[in-house]
Amino acid sequence: MKSNTHILRDPVCGKKINPNKAYAKVKYGKETYYLCCPICQVEFEKNPQKFINNLRK
Ligand SMILES: [Zn+2]
Repeated sequence: MKSNTHILRDPVCGKKINPNKAYAKVKYGKETYYLCCPICQVEFEKNPQKFINNLRK
């Protein structure tokens, strides 16, 4: 299966995100993460690894 249709999720609040409508994009490691709002962006930047681990559960 190709993964070009994978669902993007805000790693902080878990909302599904349309990348065109995301509030912010944050590059971390090899991936780009999309955040829905400034609150999620701040939280993500404080501790990106924690939220990335949540996403992979
Ligand atoms: Zn969010």
